[in-house]
Amino acid sequence: MNGQYDVVVLGGGAAGMTAAIWARRQGASVLLIEYNDMLGKKILSTGNGRCNLSNRRISASSYRSDSGGEDFFSLAFSKVSVEETLDFFESLGILTIEEQQRIYPRTMRAADVREALALALSLEGVEVCYGTKVRQVRREDGVYRLLLPRGGEILAKRLILATGSPASAVSGSTDDGAYYAAMLGHTLRPFLPALVPLRFAEKNLKELAGVRCHDTKVSLWIDGAPAGRSRGELQFTAETLSGIVIFQLSRYAALAAQEKKTCYCLLDLVPEKTEEELFLHWSRRIDAAKGTMTLQQAAAGSLHGGVLSYIARTAGLPLDRPLTRKDVGVLRTLAAGIKAFRVDLDGPKGKKDAQICAGGVCLSEVDAATMESKLNPGLFFAGELLDIDGKCGGYNLQWAWTSGRIAGEAAGRGDFHD
Ligand SMILES: Cc1cc2nc3c(=O)[nH]c(=O)nc-3n(C[C@H](O)[C@H](O)[C@H](O)COP(=O)(O)OP(=O)(O)OC[C@H]3O[C@@H](n4cnc5c(N)ncnc54)[C@H](O)[C@@H]3O)c2cc1C
Repeated sequence: MNGQYDVVVLGGGAAGMTAAIWARRQGASVLLIEYNDMLGKKILSTGNGRCNLSNRRISASSYRSDSGGEDFFSLAFSKVSVEETLDFFESLGILTIEEQQRIYPRTMRAADVREALALALSLEGVEVCYGTKVRQVRREDGVYRLLLPRGGEILAKRLILATGSPASAVSGSTDDGAYYAAMLGHTLRPFLPALVPLRFAEKNLKELAGVRCHDTKVSLWIDGAPAGRSRGELQFTAETLSGIVIFQLSRYAALAAQEKKTCYCLLDLVPEKTEEELFLHWSRRIDAAKGTMTLQQAAAGSLHGGVLSYIARTAGLPLDRPLTRKDVGVLRTLAAGIKAFRVDLDGPKGKKDAQICAGGVCLSEVDAATMESKLNPGLFFAGELLDIDGKCGGYNLQWAWTSGRIAGEAAGRGDFHD
């Protein structure tokens, strides 16, 4: 295969498809190169197959990066907002609905989003090349030269890198974009798993596997200092703490593990009551039962029985002995244990178990208004390949749509035929 295009997009995921559509709409000839034999494979697994494609609460503080600040996100979202993204999807035939600020396709089918984007690419006249991985990328005489695996090359006046990150086990989750960007002189922050379960160090906790604690406040501590807080449903598995409440904090724990820092979580398992309120609640029950009620019976309705047993056993509290007023210390110890249940952590699960990766191309080397490289004119970036990670809840796909459109519009503009 050989050829010359105004714009070549590497990576046909959420960001790459969006970029290719918008580049073509500016009048450029566009080739989209995808490694898989289908476009947008990862979109199919998003939102448990329902595709949580955006969020009403998006602001610059929904995103984190270790190489750029809120200015970068603010500028990008001032160019392409959530509203404009929803208009774009509506123009492709996708109506949306909201559930607690989270935005989904009305059909609740991720496949519909993928298919609408694929159809738009074909209607716009974007050429797509499947099952191909570019071997090398070079910039020579202001043109990008893409060397193909079985010989041949493609020339691009402008190049958009949108190859995503190595997160998840979906085929095509690679760090190739980092390799291409490094070839062109860019600085990369290492890809680290984010939105991922965290392994606990205490092996006995595996007895809580399967327990779900509906409303839990979690604070993360790194080297003894607070590093983040979150609230929501917590799940115990055989080797991890999981659930959205953990995902939201996981990127900090992953970074801490990489830097060999100590890391633990404090779980507040009954956040709606203070320690004193819990103590008084159980005291009243024990008083009323006049020496016949056990700790197990007094606290049974306050939290999951398995967690109650675990905390009582590790703190040496009697679960089955009837308590009296003299057992104030037992109740106070249990209340303290429930409000600050410490779990020492042993790092995150791997990239294959992560929804996204933190890390990628350093933002300081990219212009947020166009997503163009500050080092190589005509080179653009979009999506998760950039050193940006969003919270769980539609923020990461919105970043793919926003950055994809900015990069596509900017790359597709201009006089290519002089
Ligand atoms: C299980 C799961 C659930 C998720 N749920 C949500 C959700 O509900 N809401 C949300 O906002 N986010 C969600 N995410 C995150 C979201 O899917 C990603 O942030 C988003 O897909 C990133 O878009 P992207 O285009 O940058 O990368 P990708 O979607 O990963 O696309 C990159 C593309 O590049 C291709 N590629 C890779 N290397 C090469 C190469 N060398 N040459 C050519 N092509 C290449 C890949 O095959 C892929 O098609 C979820 C992720 C996972 C794994």
